[in-house]
Amino acid sequence: MPLPNRNLTSMLLRREGELFLFDCGEATQVSLRQLNLKWKKISTIFISHTHADHVTGLPGILMLSSQVERNDPLVIIGPPKIREYIETNRRVLDMHINYPIEVREIAQPHTPQEVYRGEGYRIRSFPMRHSKICVGYSFEEDERPGVFLPGKAEDIRVPKGFLWGKLQRGENVELEDGRTISPEQVMGPPREGRKVSYVTDTTWRNSIPSEVSGSDLLICEAMFGEDLANTAFEKRHLTARQAGKLAAQAGNIRRMGLIHYSPRYTDYELKVLQKECRDFFPNAFLCRDRMVIQIPYSDEEKTGSASGEEAGKGRGEADKS
Ligand SMILES: [Zn+2]
Ligand SMILES: [Zn+2]
Repeated sequence: MPLPNRNLTSMLLRREGELFLFDCGEATQVSLRQLNLKWKKISTIFISHTHADHVTGLPGILMLSSQVERNDPLVIIGPPKIREYIETNRRVLDMHINYPIEVREIAQPHTPQEVYRGEGYRIRSFPMRHSKICVGYSFEEDERPGVFLPGKAEDIRVPKGFLWGKLQRGENVELEDGRTISPEQVMGPPREGRKVSYVTDTTWRNSIPSEVSGSDLLICEAMFGEDLANTAFEKRHLTARQAGKLAAQAGNIRRMGLIHYSPRYTDYELKVLQKECRDFFPNAFLCRDRMVIQIPYSDEEKTGSASGEEAGKGRGEADKS
């Protein structure tokens, strides 16, 4: 349930100006407004499951999105029932929506699959184990071209200037002496793209660690502490300790943000959850409302890791860009 200083679950991902929303708890639009993002232009919404704490913010978002000119459809992706939920809301609330909405139900939510592809990235869904059909998501960028190596270009006598630029853009170039040079001759090996994973609501499931493996950022539920491990299992949720285990077992996770805390814990008590998680995965932090987290490419990050406090410094940065 929402608390005065703690709203329900939602994650907004922004990549090169494109906005993706993952879940939409009650009052998500208020936080989006506070962050001052161009959130009415959200292109795709991914829903984990149709429990109220993950979808009650949707009708408001759909209505407010009508206030801007948009031609592109809003795509909403989620497990079965999401279409019925949206269509019923539209009908009963007499929503006047001036843009196309395309609902894509994941027909086989128990099978990991690609559910969306855009230029340079894809989004996959994979099954959770919850009291209702539920999926997690991972946002994965394609590989990027390697780094341009000026030394190599000089070695094979490619004149400096616009030809270098063309090679960097992945184009072949013809030299005056008749030789054709391809980008591979002057570039390093391809570099990994970024990966962000979103895991909630679920109890432990053996397949999850491999699905989220390699994430630059894993956002993961940590609803209960060890004191309520039995309750967590009965309600099909993760404890903070299990979240830590999950990240440790996945391997190659750069950092993890915890979400979806039980309302029974005060902000102070959440520190205990963080500690229980860090016993297994030290680079974990507590997510807070409107926390902004930058996700640099792994080969561009100067310092190895960021703690929750450092990540939290990003708060409000969205206003500027
Ligand atoms: Zn749920
Ligand atoms: Zn939930």
